[in-house]
Amino acid sequence: SALRAPGDLLPRYVRVNTLKTTVGDAVDYLKRDGFCYRGQALKLENFTLKNKDFMMDQHLPELLVFSPKADFHDHFLYKAGHIILQDKASCLPAHLLNPPPGSHVIDACAAPGNKTSHLAAIMENRGRLFAFDLDGKRLATMSTLLLRAGVTCHQLANQDFLKVDPDGPQYKDVEYILLDPSCSGSGMVCLRDDAAADQEEEKARLASLASFQLRCLNHGLRFPRLKRLVYSTCSIHSQENEEVITACLQQNPNVRLVPLLPQWPERGQEPLSQCLRASPTKTRTHGFFVALLEKVSDAGSMKE
Ligand code: SAM
Repeated sequence: SALRAPGDLLPRYVRVNTLKTTVGDAVDYLKRDGFCYRGQALKLENFTLKNKDFMMDQHLPELLVFSPKADFHDHFLYKAGHIILQDKASCLPAHLLNPPPGSHVIDACAAPGNKTSHLAAIMENRGRLFAFDLDGKRLATMSTLLLRAGVTCHQLANQDFLKVDPDGPQYKDVEYILLDPSCSGSGMVCLRDDAAADQEEEKARLASLASFQLRCLNHGLRFPRLKRLVYSTCSIHSQENEEVITACLQQNPNVRLVPLLPQWPERGQEPLSQCLRASPTKTRTHGFFVALLEKVSDAGSMKE
């Protein structure tokens, strides 16, 4: 169906790693390498890019857009860590959390670390970036990727985020958390499985993921100086997205949703229109969900 635009028809997105280069230098390099720069995209229709064409993305300042056939895995810029191969939707969480240089930040479920390196770029490698993951193998890969990306402000820990003590002295200045927990992956176009899975089994799996996601959210909100937490999944199921956020808001009256990118074409399901969704048809990306939570002061007024 139209909703299942094959993954190979999605544009290729390349995030310029500003820890190593600038967008201008990357664009110049690519032009010298035979690519044809078409300027900034103004709307999604511009994405009928020919083989060697590329553009600047309409929403994200460090993102370049290429034809579905472009492949950078063997490219110098990729091998040197100057560009990161990352879907547009997955660039939203760090961009929206936007932690200032010098701040203390947690990436709760971090491996393989594309969002971690994006956070580090936004922080200009200044401050502290605590990154956790339960999976040692994924964390080892992540370590290599971060080295290549020139990230230096991070501290990796092979640890269950749910067991990290929010009152630990090392986390006392943490104001920003990025939470991108394990999910069904139902938004990943290439991973979609058309074979009808056992309905009951699928239901139980989603319920268990949603309960894990909510526990992670509630845990993140316990860090004493937290200001903002961004939550994301590559799932299209409201059970892992809007329903988890709704439950979290009910359980945490001191938290509110921050309205995100008014110009973004796809919103969270009503009434959570402050949140963003992404999909192959509406945003030319994989399926994705993002919510930004902000702590409000005890008096219920907005915190600066
Ligand atoms: N944020 C990553 C990125 O952009 O590259 C992708 C994260 S992936 C969706 C979810 C990760 O959560 C997996 O690497 C998984 O090992 C990790 N994970 C699962 N349960 C966890 C837990 N309790 N604590 C920390 N990490 C966990």
